[in-house]
Amino acid sequence: MGYAMKKPLSLLTFLMAYADDLTIITGRVRNSQTVLNSTGEWLHWTKTMKAKPSKCRVLAAKYFTSNDEKLRLEPHSKQPFSTFDPLLSIDAKQISAIGPLSLELEDKFKFLGRFFRYDQKDGPQELLVHDSFLNRLKAVDQDLVNGLMKAWLFQFWIIPSLAWPFQVYDFPLAFAKSLDELSNRFLKAWLGIYKNADVGLLYRSRASHGLGFTKPSLLLKQSQIIKLHLVKHSQEGEEGNLRKLYWNRLAREMKFKRRWKPGPTLEAAEAKLSFEIKFAGQTDRKGLGFNRYIQNMSASASRKRISLGLAFDHDRKAELHSMSLSQQGGWTKWRENVHPLDLKWKDLIFLKNTRIFSHHLNASISCLPSPNRLRLWGYIPSSKCPLCEDLKCTQMHIFSSCKTALLQGRYSWRHDSVLKCLEPVLVKYIKAHNDSKLPKPKLNLIKFVKKGSRCSSTTQPPSKHLLSPARDWQCQIDYKDDSIVFPPVICVTSLRPDIVIWSISTKVAILIELTCPSEENILQAKARKSERYLPLLNQIQSNGWTASLFLIEAGVRGCLSFSFAQCLRNIGLPSPKVRDVCKSVQTVVSRCSYIIFQTHKQAKWSRQQLFILQ
Ligand SMILES: [Zn+2]
Repeated sequence: MGYAMKKPLSLLTFLMAYADDLTIITGRVRNSQTVLNSTGEWLHWTKTMKAKPSKCRVLAAKYFTSNDEKLRLEPHSKQPFSTFDPLLSIDAKQISAIGPLSLELEDKFKFLGRFFRYDQKDGPQELLVHDSFLNRLKAVDQDLVNGLMKAWLFQFWIIPSLAWPFQVYDFPLAFAKSLDELSNRFLKAWLGIYKNADVGLLYRSRASHGLGFTKPSLLLKQSQIIKLHLVKHSQEGEEGNLRKLYWNRLAREMKFKRRWKPGPTLEAAEAKLSFEIKFAGQTDRKGLGFNRYIQNMSASASRKRISLGLAFDHDRKAELHSMSLSQQGGWTKWRENVHPLDLKWKDLIFLKNTRIFSHHLNASISCLPSPNRLRLWGYIPSSKCPLCEDLKCTQMHIFSSCKTALLQGRYSWRHDSVLKCLEPVLVKYIKAHNDSKLPKPKLNLIKFVKKGSRCSSTTQPPSKHLLSPARDWQCQIDYKDDSIVFPPVICVTSLRPDIVIWSISTKVAILIELTCPSEENILQAKARKSERYLPLLNQIQSNGWTASLFLIEAGVRGCLSFSFAQCLRNIGLPSPKVRDVCKSVQTVVSRCSYIIFQTHKQAKWSRQQLFILQ
């Protein structure tokens, strides 16, 4: 509901109405009174509405040039530009002015979610927002739910509470950074992360091996930029008054060279976006220029892109910082070889044992309490391995390079547990495939379409994969305690790849070799295994068979190499199933590594049952 008044040309008003709220802005006090009088008149005329002077507030400000003026209007401060009480009234009742004497009243005056102060300072609001943020963190901290649930509450209850104040107040970045420090402290405690860990782990995107929490300082930047973008491209106000406000503000902010200001950042972000749209590169396998060129991007779409761009830059900065850290930034060297862990909130908040997740997080930044780390932190005098007495017992040593652990079968237990996780999936899939019918070969004839008629939709042929041509596939899996002989029908060898799938009718053999190295050594493991199995491949081929070798790696931290999912897809498992299998394997490896780490001080390792995911 809105009203527009006929106004004399001499009166320049800015009128905004929303539901039963009316805002009147004029350049002079007497004009305001005129508008208020007219407003009172038409409210009477309606006979259904009435002004409520006790709920009205007035805020007036001007430059005081002479002492006479100061004596007459009583400015609220000693500054030349100050607020004052213009003594306006409606329905013959005075309207209270927002000033220092009415602090209590003024604190209660909130317009569109923003408190107004006579000195236009946001400092007191900073305190309010800070206290409310801290109180929420403390309330969550005292709750009895587990750490991951607390982290979920942070992301979906505490962070959203900042969104509106960050948009309506011009808080400085330093204030948001003080909130960052509070968030870091609580999140690290809830997630069980080493207290001096690089905070990038908390805020990097999940693709960059982070947890993807929203950083208050990034939220402030995004909110301020979105607000300015709205003002810059606003069609409201007479003769683009709002847009002029933006340009004035930008001119003022351009003078700040070292301090972060939203105006110059928005200009840079818009220039970058415009470049990206004009010179959009192709990064995927779709047709050249497919869906890339956007002629007229809507303002809301451009705001979204700018906001995402800001988050992307933030991610890159956090990554660059990680690269400068010799210990904690180790993940930047192996991230290219593995898929990040599949983390979804719906899985995380229902995790029964949050310690394993904390273990994974600390392992990803190499901050687990290994003897080497404990010696560096000053807790123990020596970094000797309790098992093999190696002088430098690092996290990687415990996970994958301890000779005694290898001889005792700790690593093969983890390796075989992964095979045990794959076995039921492969056996079930191969049985279902063998039971299905072979499709009849179809002639690929060209279908002509008459002029003016439409091509009838054709059903998609089933996708082809390595198992498509035959229905007599057999599969065998080699465990340490239940070893197999390589099928003599293919060839005679002493080598035993972990999984062999073969079809006698088509003379095709698929060999899958699984390794569980530390993520740093995935490429070396691939090269080593490839060297070992290449002669076998040649031998199989010389017997008239076709052979494919897949080297798949499950890293000790739970990150799988890209070839893992690719191998499963190549043998025809549908993508959702591949995702499920990869997730189960990640969980199995993480848990086994957790047990291997926790037992690294125990000299004895009794034969364990293979770990089976419930
Ligand atoms: Zn050792």
